[in-house]
This record gives sequence, C-alpha cells and structure tokens, in this order.
Amino acid sequence: MSIAKLARRVVRALTPYQSARRIGGSGHVWLNANEAPLSPAFTVQSNKFNRYPECQPAQVVDGYAAYAGVNADQVLVSRGADEAIELLIRTFCEAGQDQILICPPTYGMYAISAETCGVGIVEQPLTTDRQPDWPAIRDALSEVKLVFLCSPNNPTGDLVGRDGLIALLEAARDSAIVVVDEAYIEFCPDASVVDLLARFPNLVVTRTLSKAFALAGIRCGFTLASPQVIALLAKVIAPYPIPDPVAQIAAQALTPAGLALMQARVMDLNEQKAALKRALTTLPCVREIFEDKGNFILVRFHDGARVFAAMKAAGIILRDFSNKPGLGESIRITVGYQDEMDAVLKVLRDLTANTMSASNSADDTAPVSRL
Ligand code: PMP
Repeated sequence: MSIAKLARRVVRALTPYQSARRIGGSGHVWLNANEAPLSPAFTVQSNKFNRYPECQPAQVVDGYAAYAGVNADQVLVSRGADEAIELLIRTFCEAGQDQILICPPTYGMYAISAETCGVGIVEQPLTTDRQPDWPAIRDALSEVKLVFLCSPNNPTGDLVGRDGLIALLEAARDSAIVVVDEAYIEFCPDASVVDLLARFPNLVVTRTLSKAFALAGIRCGFTLASPQVIALLAKVIAPYPIPDPVAQIAAQALTPAGLALMQARVMDLNEQKAALKRALTTLPCVREIFEDKGNFILVRFHDGARVFAAMKAAGIILRDFSNKPGLGESIRITVGYQDEMDAVLKVLRDLTANTMSASNSADDTAPVSRL
C-alpha cells in the first residue's frame, strides 16, 4: 500500500510553497528571499536549555509592544509571520466551510495555509493600479471570514491605500477580520496601519523579525490585534512555540541598541535601493520597474528568462515571478549591499552590450532578441 494514500486529500493535492531554500540553487549572491545581507551578532546563554521556554516570552512581547506602540495584551509572538498567518486561519475558519480572501499577485502562504487547513480561497486580483479592488472585496465580505492584504505587497512593492482600508474595516466590522501583513513595514514605517487597531477590533497586523531586523534564521514573527483576537490565537498556538535561544535573540534585537542597528540597516538598504532603481531606469533591457516600498524591487524585463539565466550563470539567485498572472517577464531582486547590487547591474550591462554588438553585426533582416 502506498503510504501517500493515507494523507488527507488536500495534502495529496497540495503544491507546497516554493520557498527560496526549498528551490535551492547554487550561487554566491542570494537575492531571492528578501533577506538582509548580513547577520547581526547576538549572543545566547545556555544555562536553562533543560527547561521548556515560556509560551509567550515576556521580554519579547513587552519589547515588541513598546516598539510597535501597542499594549502587551495586543501582541502574540510566533514562529515567524508564517505561523501567524496559519494561526489566524485555524482560529477563525471552519474547515470545509469558510473562506479567506486574497488579492493576487501577493504572498503565496495565505493560499497555501488555507489549502492545508481545508479552507476555501476567494481571489480578488489587484486592480490595474495594483490596489485591492475595494468594491469587489466589499461585495465578497459575506462569503469570507478573513481578508489578507499585504502592505508593502510582496512581490509588487505597493502600499495598500489607507482610505480604502478604513472603508473596508467599517464595512467588515461585524462580519470579517482584515489582516494587514506588514512584513516589510520597517522600510517605510510611516505607512503602518497599527494606529488603526485602536479604532477597529477586526483589524489584525502581522509583522516579522525576518526582514529589516535581519533575523530570518531565528523564525520570529508577531501578530498585533485587539486583546480579544490575541486571546483566541493564544488558545490555538502550540504550547512552547518560541525556543529559548530565539527569545533571547529577539529580546536583544528589541532593545534600544538593537532597534538603532535595525534602523541604520534600513537607511543603508533604502539608499542601495534608490541607487539600484536609478541604474535600472537607464537600462534598455528594463521594461517596467514596480513600486519599491519594501527591501526588493520587482522588474519587468523585455526577456526575463534570458536575464534570469544570465544571473544564474553569474552565481546570482533571484526570484522569478514570470509565471504569475500579470507579471510576465518579471523578476524580483532583493536589495542587498553595494557589491551585490553592482554584480546584478554588471550582468544587466553585459547583456545589453552583448545584445547591441549582436545587433550591430547581424544583417538587417535577422531578428535580434531584446532582453
Ligand atoms: N509575509 C510576507 C509578505 C513575506 O514576504 C514573508 C516572508 N517572505 C512572510 C510574511 C513570512 O515571514 P516570516 O519569515 O516571519 O515567516
């Protein structure tokens, strides 16, 4: 008997999330997972590894509450924001009955978590100006329990408009929870909607230490919400979700010194991003540069496959989005430090130069591929 037959139907049918580490690939410049380029150096003490950790380590919860400007009873710490997404679905959606709403193209784990939980998915694609389709979402509210919005949106880099969000929160007040995923908000902190938590008990904000805090390896994320929502999620979360070394490192990252380090990193990366964007605008192989509010830039090329292959050959791993609806020929580039950005630009300039020399030597009738 095949053991696979014993698995749940949804699991047998599932295509797992193609995470950067799962896809793998050989290269020395990793720009495919929106990670920070360098690890911060925090230390861990090993005098209590014999004990189970606190379920919700107070230092981490208090530290994040102070940083985010909310009360401690509005914070839940989890294994990355990914666990927060799944907890929300498991807490609020009945398997085989309820649905979530997503606005593709967006972060893939909302749909995958829903699928693994046997929860349906309503898709309302982003509009042509890459905003949530507010009227369509409002019309679908009676069919969904959770609406997932991502701001800045991965992979397009756009912010969700505040007025539209407020109107949606009003409309959904008694029927649905609106989740705003702020995984990248440190790169544009003024755009956070955390202040709206005071007005809307149906708003949930998810955050992470994986991006601006440069701690993707420790797996630490946060849910910010009304105390009522946090209490419900706390019923569902695993008994000991946060390993003690993770709590120790997260607590250090949330001290004033840790926050200052993070902010300096954000300033640096935002400068690199602006420089990358300026350089990209001068390259003939670039067709469109998407919004840049996160630590990444999605770029539509004339020939995305050729760019991707050339990067790979040069040891640079990027994330290909060309098979996503509306994102043909598009590749997402994580913003790293200058040497990494220089390496990316060198490949693009070399490709441009090669194409031009090919077009100069070709006869007029031969088709010349554009990048
Ligand atoms: N939300 C978005 C938009 C993301 O891009 C990611 C990670 N790529 C996550 C959530 C998950 O973050 P974490 O590492 O905290 O699980």
